[in-house]
Amino acid sequence: MTTTYAVLSEGLEKRYGEVRALRGLDLAVPEGTVCGLLGPNGAGKTTAVRILTTLLAPDAGSARIAGHDLVRDPAGVRRRIAVTGQYASVDGDLTGAENLRLFARLLRLPRSRADELLEEFGLAGAADRLARTYSGGMLRRLDLAAGLLARPSVLFLDEPTTGLDPRSRNAIRDAVRGLAERGTTVVLTTQYLEEADRLADDIVLVEDGRAAHCGTPAELKALVGSRAEVVLAGAGPLGPAAAVLDRLTGSAPDLDAERRTVGAITADPTLTLPRLVREIDAAGIHIVDASLRPPTLDEVFLRLTGRKGTAA
Ligand code: ATP
Repeated sequence: MTTTYAVLSEGLEKRYGEVRALRGLDLAVPEGTVCGLLGPNGAGKTTAVRILTTLLAPDAGSARIAGHDLVRDPAGVRRRIAVTGQYASVDGDLTGAENLRLFARLLRLPRSRADELLEEFGLAGAADRLARTYSGGMLRRLDLAAGLLARPSVLFLDEPTTGLDPRSRNAIRDAVRGLAERGTTVVLTTQYLEEADRLADDIVLVEDGRAAHCGTPAELKALVGSRAEVVLAGAGPLGPAAAVLDRLTGSAPDLDAERRTVGAITADPTLTLPRLVREIDAAGIHIVDASLRPPTLDEVFLRLTGRKGTAA
């Protein structure tokens, strides 16, 4: 079966004066999947999304979005995409229903489409309340619903859950997953790496204006290796355990005095949990827990980008 790509870009470049924001960005997002665009601040994610959504013209390179050429047919691209960000495009002085019906009318869609989305996003009960009385999570869902009225092929979601409580975050995540299952392609930028881990089929790690690493969350984790961690018993120093981990993993361990843990990432596939425990034991160190597990996406991010900071 051949893969159809909803977003396919090649060699996108963008310069702002002296700053080369994009230096040949290649992206290939299969239809009906969620792609997480991650990277350190200033990596070029916003520039990429602005270009892919026709808000900004590239200096070089090409892209096809839902089959339409970005440069030659931007209007065609716009018809097939929706962009929703952290800032709700909702009118607070209208009710939820009025907001969606207004957009539906502008798009020449039947009123029933608005009602359908209110139902789908769990807003039917609050449909007749003014949007300014909505919680942050409800506003975000209303904004998302507005973006989906015209059934876009590709949805660009910028930081969809920033500032939301865990329950609202989950509601948005469920909605996004559901969309992809029904065939919408989602390009997601988020600073919550654990969110990208749960939602994204593929992750593109953007660095210095290029796609530095691409793969499923599991593939990116495998690239980095595993994380070995021990939790020490008693109140002794962490140094001796750190020395053992340093030797076994070949990388500098991190120490957490409060949690009494020492951990390190290792790319050595021969390191097993029994060996870790044996070596710690042989050094006369008492532990209450030991683990060898895949790294979190946060750890992958720090390792692969070699920088600290948010991954927005
Ligand atoms: P963040 O995570 O901080 O939002 P980002 O990955 O979205 O970062 P961009 O906003 O695309 O990165 O910025 C890429 C580079 O281009 C940065 O060095 C930024 O300072 C620069 N840049 C972005 N917009 C402009 C602009 N309008 N004028 C000049 N430089 C810009």
